[in-house]
Amino acid sequence: MNLGRDNDPDLRDAVRSLCLQFDSAYWQEVDEKRAYPEKFVDALTKAGWMSALIPEAYGGSGLTLTEASVIMEEVTRSGGNAGCCHGQMYNMNTLLRHGSEAQKKKYLPKIASGDLRLQAMGVTEPGAGTDTTKIKTLAVKKGDHYVVNGQKVWTSRLQHSELMILLARTTSSEKVARKTEGMSVFLVDTKSKGIEMRPIRNMVNHETNQVFIDNLEIPAENLIGEEGKGFRYILDGLNAERILIAAECIGDGYWFTEKSTKYASERVVFDRPIGQNQGIQFPIAESYMEIEAANLMRYKAAALFDQKKNCGAEANMAKHLAAQASWEAANVCLQTHGGFGFAAEYDVERKFRETRLYLVAPISTNLILAYLAEHVLGLPRSF
Ligand SMILES: Cc1cc2nc3c(=O)[nH]c(=O)nc-3n(C[C@H](O)[C@H](O)[C@H](O)COP(=O)(O)OP(=O)(O)OC[C@H]3O[C@@H](n4cnc5c(N)ncnc54)[C@H](O)[C@@H]3O)c2cc1C
Repeated sequence: MNLGRDNDPDLRDAVRSLCLQFDSAYWQEVDEKRAYPEKFVDALTKAGWMSALIPEAYGGSGLTLTEASVIMEEVTRSGGNAGCCHGQMYNMNTLLRHGSEAQKKKYLPKIASGDLRLQAMGVTEPGAGTDTTKIKTLAVKKGDHYVVNGQKVWTSRLQHSELMILLARTTSSEKVARKTEGMSVFLVDTKSKGIEMRPIRNMVNHETNQVFIDNLEIPAENLIGEEGKGFRYILDGLNAERILIAAECIGDGYWFTEKSTKYASERVVFDRPIGQNQGIQFPIAESYMEIEAANLMRYKAAALFDQKKNCGAEANMAKHLAAQASWEAANVCLQTHGGFGFAAEYDVERKFRETRLYLVAPISTNLILAYLAEHVLGLPRSF
């Protein structure tokens, strides 16, 4: 099986050289100011990398998911934080797979050119958590538009995106035969009246918000696909999302390992480099192995996705293994740096915070384990 690994070293080199223009000082500054890395996202967009998954017919680069995953990997591997830009890659899938021809013609070329950003997705609600079927935000059709009321939480990049994918109930949960029915997906103009955003200050430099939706009007033509089928459309996009996140974690993992190795070779204590001690080198070697192993699953999942084959199990395993491996590598890196690991100028504490997120969002570890237990191993559903 062709795992697609490094099929296109030119792509990797091109993304890497762009990312390297944004050095450690840049990322430290945006992190300290809790600022959006506007210049970085702009450069990535202008170079065409943010439209990787948009077909050429609509002005994009028409790359495969394997190639798109290399882009995300290079962002984190270079020391950057992909949280500012990954949304566009993830969210694109819903529009590409289920949007009408008219919607694609209207929006995709503008997204590809960078005139519009599709960086936001509003799914999670405070009262629903991981159980998406419990969402309460309701969209009621009135003539040629829907009127939406409700609340979202953790809606990321909303202040830096012109468009949002919004999941809302079009039929309340009491009136549907199955709780997964009656939800719909809309493409929303984020500057519309009726959307109030309240930023959530959080552990990482991640622009994310509470969102209060009060009589928001959405033109009926902005419904994506069929009314009531939105839950399935969101699920459809998850495999791509899992694989892209796995790649981000792999990038982080390599960054931590390289950083650990360099520091362990240079730092001299008791008249020898600390990396000469097995207590320092073994954990680095172990975390490197785990990243390499997770990377194989990432490429396997991406190749299956690109071949349009079932990849639910592989995508979930890739995300889980990669998130665990990068978190382990982060711990090792912090330990290797001793006290200096806590100093902002080394970037370790920042990347440590950033990579921790992926064990929780966009899907937390337990839910992946539950998926594997139920759908791969055939164990009884636990919830
Ligand atoms: C920085 C950040 C950015 C985010 N961006 C977005 C975004 O852009 N759009 C969006 O829609 N959402 C976003 N999210 C939300 C994210 O997807 C959720 O936080 C995540 O899915 C977990 O949901 P929750 O926080 O409600 O946890 P809960 O559902 O309350 O779960 C809490 C804990 O209990 C565990 N748990 C729950 N049920 C079970 C069970 N049956 N068995 C075992 N364990 C269980 C979970 O795994 C978790 O560890 C973001 C979150 C963060 C932190």
